[in-house]
Amino acid sequence: MTLLRSSLLLLGVSSAFASPARVIRQETVTVTATPSAAAPTATAWDAGAVTSWTIHSSCNRTERAQLERAFGETITLVNHARDHILRWGNASELYQKYFGDASTGEPVGWFGKIANGDKAGVIFRCDNPDGNCAQEGWAGHWRGENATSETVICPLSYETRKPLEAMCGHGYTVANSNTNFYFASDLLHRLLHIPQVGEGIVEHYAEDYPEVLELAENTPSEAVKNSDTLQYFALEAYAYDIALPGEGCPGKYTATSEAPVASATETPTATTNKRKAKAIRNATPTPTVSCTAPEHAVMSETNS
Ligand SMILES: [Zn+2]
Repeated sequence: MTLLRSSLLLLGVSSAFASPARVIRQETVTVTATPSAAAPTATAWDAGAVTSWTIHSSCNRTERAQLERAFGETITLVNHARDHILRWGNASELYQKYFGDASTGEPVGWFGKIANGDKAGVIFRCDNPDGNCAQEGWAGHWRGENATSETVICPLSYETRKPLEAMCGHGYTVANSNTNFYFASDLLHRLLHIPQVGEGIVEHYAEDYPEVLELAENTPSEAVKNSDTLQYFALEAYAYDIALPGEGCPGKYTATSEAPVASATETPTATTNKRKAKAIRNATPTPTVSCTAPEHAVMSETNS
């Protein structure tokens, strides 16, 4: 240390008063530093990586704060879903319930992409560029062809979506509540619409709880790329493993029951839209409903 300091001092002096002796001392310092300079260095393979979704300038501080919190919760939710599968594979009863006998790589991949995939250009905004937020019951929507990597979160979302810490509260059960009850699971669905996330592969093959269970049993290859299946699995895994360990809130599906919704004002719209979705689904071959269809945009982006 002393040697280095004096050498550096001499280095400064040497520029003004160069002498052969001082030049030699300077070279000694350079040789001492060589080992660390020669150490292998990583390439900048991930230069420019974007690790968080972008919140548009149209969001005020309150909206931004809520979105940032919901982003964190979304990561928590999908990370646990992935970890559950990584730990138990398809030996998990929960896995079998939602994905049947499908191999595990695909759902692990989708959850992993949401948590760790590059987030460049994925924008959440709080203005109303397409005019949809003015319609009753609209809590947000994917902008579709208008801007494929943009999502609008309408004011209703901030009023109604629940935080993940309220898992199993407010009357929520997996079987009987909407998959967008929590802000985190709502964003999970919205993110899967973004082409760089869902790659146009994650789609709506089944939506209602019984249909999702049926898909797992009959067409597991579609269950692993079904948007609602990924939501249901993530919610139930989090509820059972984390929120209320060993208990969760799976609920028992009741066809006639009104799904608890986050806001009473949403109920009529949600019901109408569910019927609408079913009509569309029944009329179209698999994948049953595309979110690029305007009809589905009404259903999915209002209700999901
Ligand atoms: Zn959708």
